[in-house]
Amino acid sequence: MQPQPERSRNRRRIRPRRVAALASVSALTLAVSASAGTGHLAPGGTAAGAGPVAALDRSSTLGPCLINGHPAVQMSEGIPTPGGYARSTGTVRALTVMVDFPDAPGQGKAMDRFHEFFPQTRKWFRTSSYGRLDYRPSTPIQDWLRMPKAFLDYGIDRGAPFDPGYRELVQDIIAAADAKVDFRDYDLLNVLVTPNAGPSALDTVLSVTFAGNADAPVADGVPVANASFVYSRQDDGSGTYDRTGYRVLPHENGHVFGLPDLYTQEGGGAVGHWDIMSEDWGANNDLLGWHKWKLGWLDAGQISCASGTGTAEFTLTPLARPGGRKLVFVPLDARTGYALELRTREGNDEAVCRPGILVYRVDADIDTGMGPVTVFDSREDSGGCTRSPNVHAELSDATFTPGETFKDPARKISVEVASADVSGTYRVRVTRG
Ligand SMILES: [Zn+2]
Repeated sequence: MQPQPERSRNRRRIRPRRVAALASVSALTLAVSASAGTGHLAPGGTAAGAGPVAALDRSSTLGPCLINGHPAVQMSEGIPTPGGYARSTGTVRALTVMVDFPDAPGQGKAMDRFHEFFPQTRKWFRTSSYGRLDYRPSTPIQDWLRMPKAFLDYGIDRGAPFDPGYRELVQDIIAAADAKVDFRDYDLLNVLVTPNAGPSALDTVLSVTFAGNADAPVADGVPVANASFVYSRQDDGSGTYDRTGYRVLPHENGHVFGLPDLYTQEGGGAVGHWDIMSEDWGANNDLLGWHKWKLGWLDAGQISCASGTGTAEFTLTPLARPGGRKLVFVPLDARTGYALELRTREGNDEAVCRPGILVYRVDADIDTGMGPVTVFDSREDSGGCTRSPNVHAELSDATFTPGETFKDPARKISVEVASADVSGTYRVRVTRG
């Protein structure tokens, strides 16, 4: 446990929503996304999503659990993830540039900025993906890449749309880098902005991702469609920046792989610290099992779809450990369902203070930042079990432990945590009336 010298500051971790990750799923969404001011289209209307999930057949036993959202949802929890995003399995090459400006010249070495995020980000993905995502950052330009215009001239502030500021910035990055970079060699772009450009992340979080953006400027014949921009330093004074400050990058890269934001305008109260797409400040955390399935990091054999009536029993092994069943999904309809998984303090999950079965609702019809996932709290108003800085406390003890039951009487669904054995495997009993 960390001492809490800055506890009063932690309340400020409730951030305004970053408008991020604008992507749409098919040509059908053209009118909708254009009127929403995004105009970003993923190529084609196919379900050529990333990873093995795309190969799943709707008639398989997992078919009823392949929930999907309305095409107007820009960034959905639905499975499979539509095309246009960076692939999330195998070797993924991340072009990483460090950028500065005439009015905000880089201080210190550009590669020191790079090392605020690496190798930690690469390791984070390797751990979370059970080795399925081999994330390779590449820095063909090791000095600050100077932009031709002043930072202020790009008009970048929180929630800035892609046009015109980010389009100009991407065009200027392409122009400055093109002599040394073949953009066809990379799956995504990381722009690590000099921390002295723009406001402190304590005041305004500018970090943003534009994902699935086929309308992005073209370099070497390919659109720079998946790009994450990181600003400032997420240093809240708790003394953990050198350990945890990199975590904004795996969050932003989560968007380039198609994951939505799980925090809302009200902050992290929907999911708490159970997913890095909810909270990327503070102690390390993992992704939900749902996200790991969506990204192709779990096999079909590691998922169970509890769609039938009656009682069925399942074993679950800790999500952070490779192998075994990781996720039971209880579909409610074609768009929503309940997910069950076992969370323990290991792997990337270093803040878990009450190991047990996490129960949450996934709604593929709810867009990024609007609350597509909601964790059910087994102990409402308990205050939680963590005192770790920047960890949403109330939901930290949300898990269900042996003997406890999650109930949805209206739908005649109950989930009983039957037992836990010495190896750490849990048994859950799902009853559908
Ligand atoms: Zn985000």
